[in-house]
Amino acid sequence: MANQEDLFKKIIAHAKEYGFVFQSSEIYDGLSAVYDYGQNGSELKKNIRDYWWKSMVQMHENIVGIDAAIFMHPTTWKASGHVDAFSDPLIDNKDSKKRYRADVLVEDHMAKIEAKIDKEVEKAQSRFGDSFDEQQFRETNQRVLENQKKIDEIRTTFFAALEREDLVAVKAIIEDLGIVCPVSGSRNWTEVRQFNLMFSTNMGSVAEGATEIYLRPETAQGIFVNYLNVQKTGRMKIPFGIAQTGKAFRNEIVARQFIFRMREFEQMEMQFFVQPGQEIKWYEYWKAERMKWHLSLGISADKYRFHDHDKLAHYANAAADIEFDFPIGFKELEGIHSRTDFDLSAHEKFSGKKLRYHDPELNESYVPYVVETSIGLDRMFLAIMSNAYTEEQLEDGSERVVMKIPPFLAPYKVAIFPLTKKDGLPEKASEIMDNLKPDFMCFYEEKDAIGKRYRRHDAIGTPFCITVDHQTMDDNTVTLRERDSMVQTRVKVEELTGIISGKLKNR
Ligand code: ATP
Repeated sequence: MANQEDLFKKIIAHAKEYGFVFQSSEIYDGLSAVYDYGQNGSELKKNIRDYWWKSMVQMHENIVGIDAAIFMHPTTWKASGHVDAFSDPLIDNKDSKKRYRADVLVEDHMAKIEAKIDKEVEKAQSRFGDSFDEQQFRETNQRVLENQKKIDEIRTTFFAALEREDLVAVKAIIEDLGIVCPVSGSRNWTEVRQFNLMFSTNMGSVAEGATEIYLRPETAQGIFVNYLNVQKTGRMKIPFGIAQTGKAFRNEIVARQFIFRMREFEQMEMQFFVQPGQEIKWYEYWKAERMKWHLSLGISADKYRFHDHDKLAHYANAAADIEFDFPIGFKELEGIHSRTDFDLSAHEKFSGKKLRYHDPELNESYVPYVVETSIGLDRMFLAIMSNAYTEEQLEDGSERVVMKIPPFLAPYKVAIFPLTKKDGLPEKASEIMDNLKPDFMCFYEEKDAIGKRYRRHDAIGTPFCITVDHQTMDDNTVTLRERDSMVQTRVKVEELTGIISGKLKNR
């Protein structure tokens, strides 16, 4: 665990040092849980967004994209349930004055018990070696069974209390479990209160006439209110999807995990409209499709797992998360939700406008059901960064930090170095760069020894470095060096575009 924490700190420091992510308004000591993307970070983020867009929109004839405004009519959020129900149960520790999400405290407590079980299993594994049967051990070992029972009991009573919105019972569970504040170590807790996560602001120039509006806490509602516009103008036939990427805002309380939990973040969502009764089939379909998308990045499958929801949101009849093994543990990266007709029906009711679909096959009209896939772009960015960060010991005894970002997502694809600053090499290198620039993000560098320049590009994840040397002037060849293998090959200048684009393809 200490190692993982250490790794997380290193990634955060690396992200800053190499222009990926900066604390927002850093010169004023920062704004909590708000971050800015730097010159390399914004490229990586754009590439992830483009890849998502391409996979969802370009690759599916029945999915189209929109770009809705962040501000929406305030009634939107009454209809969606966010005004009444988009809140977290919060509890304060009176000694440390720190505020926590009650559900996070209880989940952390369950994770600790889970860790005890894992330890027990590990111990037995090393004791029994190859003959160890983990499943049998988990099903029969007394200590494991007791701890598992504890977890199950907490889960049942806790979710039941949340379901009933019984905040007194939630507090009682925290007290009964003896949960202490991680800062003060005390059990001196306040009552549990619900706290709405939406940011509000005023629209209009005069105070009296101004309307209170919200910064959208999710992008999905921009799609729901445009459902009919898109269906009609695009002559879309069910099943079809609408995709969107954009900013969302939540006044998060537990906001100390770098870009994992931000107050301003970006979502990439797709709402898929289906016949009522067909939603579970499509839910399973999108669960599988989205996992395939993640695996297409070349990240190892054991970094991912599904987590089916025990407690469903007010709008869902099935929901699962795709969790990723971040340095802070397995956490939600993407949600796949079967949202029923909850949203469209609510908007029909609140707006008085019909949001139906006339199904020519069934010859009937209905409010479509919706299956959504919703992924945080910043969390995906963090998943890629934490998976990419590698410290390597080289044969000559030196070390390098290399960001093994999937090449097609890397901020820069090619770095071009003249070996020296004289003999016409810089001019030749610039000429090569001018030829590659229209196709690839290129970086030109002539300062420092070649080895140092390689290290700098390893650290930002540039997959290819091209070195222009004296031989280039004679035979128009360069060395092409690959980031991960560090293998260098001599290639003809006129073949560079073909070779590089071949290696960058991700289909
Ligand atoms: P969590 O349980 O972690 O708060 P959530 O279940 O509230 O997340 P959703 O409402 O399902 O999240 O949002 C969809 C996706 O948006 C999440 O899977 C996550 O990737 C991203 N996301 C949600 N909240 C944040 C945040 N505060 N910062 C960054 N990304 C976020």
